[in-house]
Order: sequence, then C-alpha cells, then structure tokens
Amino acid sequence: MSDATSTHAEEQHNFSAEVERLMDLVVHALYSEREIFLRELIANSADALDRRRFESLTNQTVALPDKPQIFLTVDKKGNLLTISDDGLGMSKDEMIQNLGTIAKSGTRAFEKQLKDAKPEDRVNLIGQFGVGFYSAFMVADKVEVISRRAGSDEAWAWNSEGKGKYSIASSTRNTPGTDVILHIKKDAEEYLESMRLENIIRKWADHIAWPITIKQDDK
Ligand code: ADP
Ligand code: MG
Repeated sequence: MSDATSTHAEEQHNFSAEVERLMDLVVHALYSEREIFLRELIANSADALDRRRFESLTNQTVALPDKPQIFLTVDKKGNLLTISDDGLGMSKDEMIQNLGTIAKSGTRAFEKQLKDAKPEDRVNLIGQFGVGFYSAFMVADKVEVISRRAGSDEAWAWNSEGKGKYSIASSTRNTPGTDVILHIKKDAEEYLESMRLENIIRKWADHIAWPITIKQDDK
C-alpha cells in the first residue's frame, strides 16, 4: 500500500510499514557483511536479463541487444556507483510494485530467522526473503533507479533516501534496461574502488552468466 500525492511530474509515495521495517532489518542485521549489497544488485540485473531473454522468445519487441551486459560505473568525484543492465526493465507500475511493496509476506518469519541465524547465514536469508534490493541502503544514503521497460519508450526514475518515502518521476533512457545509482555514504567509500568491486564480484558473483564490466568514470 502506498498513498501517492502528485505535484507536477513528481509523485511522492510512502513505503508500506512492512517495507520500512524490512529495510531497517536488512540494513542493521547485515552491517558487518555490507559488501553483499553488490551481490544482490548484480543478481537482480542478471534476473532482469534472464527475464528479457525469456520474454523475447515469444515477443520480438523485447529482443536483447547484441552484447547484453551488466555495467558497474564508478564516479569517485560524484561519490556514485551505478549498476546498469540491458535487462527487461520496469514500467512505472512495476517500480511501485517491486521496489515499494513486499511480494512475499513474512516479515515476522524473516525477523525471527535473522535473530537466530549465525552472521554468515544472515546474508542468505535476505535472498530467500526477496529483500535484496533494500541492502543498497547499507552503503548508499540515496538510491536512484532509472528504468525503461523493454518494448516501451517511456523511462521512469525512482528516488529514495530510505526513511519511509520515495518519489517517482518521468525520465529518459536511451535503451531498455535499468540503472541503479547509489549515492555512496561517507563511510562506504571503499565501494568506489574498482579493485574492491572486482574482489566482491569474484567472491559473490562468480556464477553470473552475463558479462560484468567495471568502468571508472572519473579519470
Ligand atoms: P528479489 O530479487 O528476491 O525479487 P529484490 O528485493 O532483490 O527481491 O528485488 C525486488 C524486485 O525488484 C525484483 O523481483 C524485480 O522485480 C525488481 N528489480 C530489482 N532490480 C531490478 C533490475 N535491475 N531490473 C529489473 N527489475 C528489477
Ligand atoms: Mg534480488
């Protein structure tokens, strides 16, 4: 549930109470394993690429580009880490649904299992409970998602600082897919180092079948 108020092009939404609670749980329970935010965001990109490939079997308008990829772009000056993909993307409604509400109910079960789990097992719980996206807020004080659904010309920007609310506004994107732009926190600047990112990918995302390229945007 989210109540929307419209001001010009930008709509303000509130996260459901359940989402707020989950974000809080994810951010605090996994603080010692912060690096897994990257595994979660890369996994989401890979899922979106898989889904686009699957949908393209029956719908030519969503066909993948020649070299479908996942890109990590580092902008040290701007303190930005962007995870981009050529995946299926999201429509406005899908953004509201997928990033602002909880598909699987089970906050209580999640909370209980987190409490009982050994630290090394906690990281797997967030995948199981489908709350990986929110782990972005462990390292970012602001998260922007720009997405264009394959087969559509429209792009949308989702913006949030956590804290109970997010906004959605019309945007632009040259090709279908998604950018997750992380405004990296002061104490998380290690995630702006390509070497650090490479190590995390080697450790957690070695099984990803799509090519992952790291670009340093600030030379
Ligand atoms: P899960 O991946 O387990 O469903 P997440 O919290 O990681 O849970 O992501 C929530 C949802 O947001 C995904 O199921 C997907 O629908 C959507 N989503 C997240 N990242 C992307 C992306 N890069 N491209 C398309 N959809 C995405
Ligand atoms: Mg996920």
